Amino acid sequence: MKTKKINHVFQTIIQDELQENKIYISLDYNTAIHKCACGCGEEVVTPISPSDWKLIYNGESVSLSPSIGNWSYSCRSHYWIRDGYIEWAENWTEEKVNKIRGKEKRKQEINKRGLFKFIKKLFK
Ligand SMILES: [Zn+2]
Repeated sequence: MKTKKINHVFQTIIQDELQENKIYISLDYNTAIHKCACGCGEEVVTPISPSDWKLIYNGESVSLSPSIGNWSYSCRSHYWIRDGYIEWAENWTEEKVNKIRGKEKRKQEINKRGLFKFIKKLFK
């Protein structure tokens, strides 16, 4: 399983222009954002809270849990950020993805934050 490095950037206000292979973390807003690790260019927002993602900073690198599943994007990438590296998850079966997509269609109206909460619930 291939891995690649992702560098963290602590910021008060997260910039509009995001670079690849970097995760921007705002402690003021309890949010991290990065460009999808597959290179598709989509921006992935991960709110940090007890009910969303957990950010671990060990002094050198960051980890996020749970995993990041970009089912709402065409790439459908699924990976972990662990100790500053992207670790790819195995691809989900077509059946499982279709099941999730069906659920997503019914939830088209929900906003981005809501969608991420919904996605996260799938991993519990
Ligand atoms: Zn992607």
